[in-house]
Amino acid sequence: MTDIRVRIAPSPTGPLHLGTARTALFNFLFARHTGGTFIFRLEDTDQARSTEAYELDILNGMHWLGIRWDEGPAVGDEPERGDHGPYRQMARMASYTEAANRLLAEDKAYRCYCSPEELEAERKLQEAAHQNVRYNGRCAKLTGAERAAFEAEGRKPVVRFRIPASRAIAFDDIVRGHVEIDTNALGGDLVILRSDGTPLYHFTVAVDDAAMKISHVIRGEDHLSNTPKHILLFEALGAPIPQFGHLPLILNPDRTKMSKRKSQTAVDAYKAEGFIPEAFVNYLALLGWSTGTEEEILSQAELIERFDLSKVNRAGAVFDRERLEWINGQWIRRLSADDLIARLRPFFEVELAAGRIDWLPTDDEIRVLLPVVQERLPRLSAVGELIGFLFVRDLEMDPALIVPKRWDAATTVVGLTAARQLIAETGKAAWDAHQLEAPLRRLVEDRGWKAGDLFMAIRVAVTGRTATPPLFDTMVALGYERTLARLDRAIEKLGAQATTAP
Ligand code: GLU
Repeated sequence: MTDIRVRIAPSPTGPLHLGTARTALFNFLFARHTGGTFIFRLEDTDQARSTEAYELDILNGMHWLGIRWDEGPAVGDEPERGDHGPYRQMARMASYTEAANRLLAEDKAYRCYCSPEELEAERKLQEAAHQNVRYNGRCAKLTGAERAAFEAEGRKPVVRFRIPASRAIAFDDIVRGHVEIDTNALGGDLVILRSDGTPLYHFTVAVDDAAMKISHVIRGEDHLSNTPKHILLFEALGAPIPQFGHLPLILNPDRTKMSKRKSQTAVDAYKAEGFIPEAFVNYLALLGWSTGTEEEILSQAELIERFDLSKVNRAGAVFDRERLEWINGQWIRRLSADDLIARLRPFFEVELAAGRIDWLPTDDEIRVLLPVVQERLPRLSAVGELIGFLFVRDLEMDPALIVPKRWDAATTVVGLTAARQLIAETGKAAWDAHQLEAPLRRLVEDRGWKAGDLFMAIRVAVTGRTATPPLFDTMVALGYERTLARLDRAIEKLGAQATTAP
């Protein structure tokens, strides 16, 4: 073990967000690569917005992704672990009060009695004068008598941390390089405790990072402008200043910051679509980082081996769903038959519950289909679209879809009837994809048709859709009786249509 200690510190105010998962992953990979320690800390002080359900969603999502921490809160049956707990901020309240009292005693912080109305009025004045909005420091140097007078009025003070004026706070960010921010841009002295004594975000982060001996703060770029505040707090608390690495934002395809309004950001929604964790982790790792080679498909072990924080890009990482699906498809191909069958099962259950199939296939029924299915699944949930027609009693079929573009209904009836006869004859001897194909190709040649036209008509007749696994494999999977029955029904429907057409 090295003394590298990193953390992910999510707030349970929403479901696990893709960006949080990416940040957690980069911390995890960095810790595993360097032999450091990865810590999970729940920042649950926003009690109005934090819920247990979100907490569970985050914890379960991390588990699903295979991101395991060395220190962190209790999850399910697993007890809390680590020597720097508790790992949820609501259980650390005493440490924030203690730290604030220390800063007050050292005059690094002071009590501020300004009311919200007064602060609001000041803000409006500053805005009208086109000045930066910042606390004007009215309570920064109160005398004992002035303080007593405010107390007598019944005002409840907040605690503010003194931010020095006009000082450049500089740090070397592992991702972004040299960063300098002037303290004048920080909004003036910082509230660290509300008037009810509850602590605010910047303060709890710094107090906890110091107490948990965090050596590297790796987080999203949206926190870059907060870092000078944290550095000043570390200094005031007498704690060493960690190294920082700010990860590039994840962007929508239009290069705006990824948000749930424009994109699907909840990790659970990707899980529900049938992205598999191996692929999702693989994809997340490449959002802002690459191995510098052509390698794209990487296991967790390979990611750990290759991960290099200093190679993370500065530029925003555009979320590319097509690439995610491609990587997912690659990972699905690598699964063993048993593994894939087990992972597909819940998706068949979804199809059944939604009434899109009439029964669940057995493991063996799925197994024989894998050769034509496995390489065609961009997501596990696509299995219904791909082969659901095999597990329905009465196929819903749009007769208009059966008639190929170059044909009319009457020709289609002729084509399907001839094909039906050949399929019935050949199939009786051997129900086999190769055996079925040859006579149908001969039929097409004899009649001067295009194979694509006849085969599309058969495809739609027996599956109800235009895109399926290879036609002859599909018929074999469907079985002799059902294939013929579906062809008969299609011929009947079309025949009726052809004779009633004007
Ligand atoms: N709770 C903060 C967040 O979810 C943590 C920020 C940090 O990593 O310092 O954004």
